[in-house]
Amino acid sequence: MAGAPVTAAPLARLIEAFHRLPGIGPKSAQRLAYHVLRAPRDEAEALAAALLEVKDRIQLCSVCQNVTERDPCLVCTDDSRDATTICVVEEPLDILAIEKAGGYNGRYHVLHGALSPMDGLGPDQLKIRELLHRLQAADIVEVILATNPNLEGEATSSYLARVLQPLGVRVTRLAHGLPVGADVEYADARTLSRALRHRVTIGPDGDAIVAGSVTIGPDGDAIVPDGATIGANDDPPAPGA
Ligand SMILES: [Zn+2]
Repeated sequence: MAGAPVTAAPLARLIEAFHRLPGIGPKSAQRLAYHVLRAPRDEAEALAAALLEVKDRIQLCSVCQNVTERDPCLVCTDDSRDATTICVVEEPLDILAIEKAGGYNGRYHVLHGALSPMDGLGPDQLKIRELLHRLQAADIVEVILATNPNLEGEATSSYLARVLQPLGVRVTRLAHGLPVGADVEYADARTLSRALRHRVTIGPDGDAIVAGSVTIGPDGDAIVPDGATIGANDDPPAPGA
């Protein structure tokens, strides 16, 4: 389509450029290109300028590795945030999601990916060295592993737990449970068994006594936090039990 001789070369190039963007199919690429063609010149100029500005002015924060216009970034220089807690995420967008959810007031660290040997992504390709450097340079009490609950994310979380444990820092990971609003009946087996294993004690006010993260041991498995009754090694009941 893009290379069809009926399409003028500059237009074909623009369609091709849009098509290379994630989530843009050939039809959408065509629609976008024709939209730009019909748009006023200043709109096209603003788009081109925005594209270049992102490339020229956005860099990685030398502390947390998040994308930023200013180094160190606004989060790393915000004194109202708890500097002793670091939440480790795979991608910058994960930070936006956690900030939007609210309730977290520590700092972050972006790995820029997850361990995936098949894709050639080992520890050296992620920002792990930078994380270890932060632990040496500052007084960090807790590292929260907030990698994705998939194969790569789990592998990354286990690896980091093994590396971080000897440094005497508390390593926790996000609790994996049932989505809010979901029916137990429709939950998939892995999520349900995990939610059971990481169940929390609730106090008289109906709130969980244990915060929404579990401490993980050197083997990457959840361990029972002080005084809590998380059944980390309990097996989920057999179906129909
Ligand atoms: Zn930063």
